[in-house]
Amino acid sequence: MAQLKDDCFAFGGELMPMDDALAILAERVEPVAEAETVPLADALGRTLAEDISAPRDVPPHDNSAVDGYAVFFDDLQDGGDTRLRVGGRVAAGHPLGRAGERGEAVRIFTGAPMPDGMDTVFMEEDCTPDSGDVILPPGLKQGANRRFRGEDVQAGDVVIAAGSRLRPQELGLAASVGRGTLSVYRPLRAAVFSTGDEVRDPSDDAPEGCIFDANRFSVMGLLKDMGCAVTDLGILADDEDGMAEALGSAARDHDVLLTSGGVSAGEEDHVKAAVERNGEIHFWRLSIKPGRPIALGRVGGTAFVGLPGNPVAAMVTFMVLARPLLLRLGGAREIDAPRYPVIAGFDYKKKTGRREWVRARLNRDNGRLVAQKYRSGGSGILTSMVFADGLVELPEERGNVTTGEQVDFLPFSEVAR
Ligand code: AMP
Ligand code: MG
Repeated sequence: MAQLKDDCFAFGGELMPMDDALAILAERVEPVAEAETVPLADALGRTLAEDISAPRDVPPHDNSAVDGYAVFFDDLQDGGDTRLRVGGRVAAGHPLGRAGERGEAVRIFTGAPMPDGMDTVFMEEDCTPDSGDVILPPGLKQGANRRFRGEDVQAGDVVIAAGSRLRPQELGLAASVGRGTLSVYRPLRAAVFSTGDEVRDPSDDAPEGCIFDANRFSVMGLLKDMGCAVTDLGILADDEDGMAEALGSAARDHDVLLTSGGVSAGEEDHVKAAVERNGEIHFWRLSIKPGRPIALGRVGGTAFVGLPGNPVAAMVTFMVLARPLLLRLGGAREIDAPRYPVIAGFDYKKKTGRREWVRARLNRDNGRLVAQKYRSGGSGILTSMVFADGLVELPEERGNVTTGEQVDFLPFSEVAR
């Protein structure tokens, strides 16, 4: 298993802008997952570890786009019907076996190779067969209904680059160039812990002063949506020895450890000391809301991500920071997610100099998408995440938002893969 470099998350600055954080991840974090070869049918959702190039053209031969009759355009009459002898038949998978001949038409079916020399295909519906001949109407353009060899892919093209996530269409394209297996990165092995003496498993009792553990389930869900192999390692008490022991042992067979809570640097927060026993931890004071601080580091050679404890902050920082990091560790090239312009359906007070995310639901209004904000913006209000379809992202330079202004929207669906 590849190891993280020492100090790869070191950061000496005060308040870090989000773009600097993402640039550091893109530059310093290398894939840790090894490549493995899998059958094409099992590669959905995986990250490609090789460039896929085409050994041959697709389609491999000129072929017909319709059922009908292939001809030499030069055999057609100007301005009237043309009668040609039907001299052969080609179906898909059954080439003619000889070149086309001047003066003949060849019955042809969709996908069948064009007889050599022929350049134009009449659609069946437009033709009248007549005792071994076919009568063709005037008006068709040269080259009609003919698909060219190599019009999709040319031999030697790189059709899918290493680092691409494999969607159904990538699998189809890989198949079309004859690939039955692919080299992909193995799924990242992620271990998830919650922390806190007050945090209880939802199937246990929660005595006075205790709360149920939300983060472990939302974070494991986010990881599984990304295709990680997830281990649930339960809840760690606020106790340095226990944490150090659990983290050290999980580091042995995982690529990344994720905790939530215990990193706000209060006196009951023991994550820092526990990580430092077997590695190092850096608190990234990001100029973002929600979600300061977030801790990144390593335990042995395994990446460590300390998410904030507040349930909304844990999810949002996962989406905007942990996810790009995990994508890099897993070999992905593209670690950013697309944002889409929508109209703000709310007023919002915002300080400049900080990037903020507002949970919002999209409604359609006169053909426009309008983002509606939840009644409460607190970072412990998990109902807001269920209400929302995604996050309105307000960049550092932006001040207050007024209803009707354009804003960027990051759909949850874009970060759930
Ligand atoms: P902490 O950073 O540990 O001080 O946690 C910040 C806030 O998040 C506190 O109110 C915690 O009770 C809460 N919290 C921490 N972990 C979880 C969790 N797993 N599920 C729900 N709330 C949590
Ligand atoms: Mg805590």
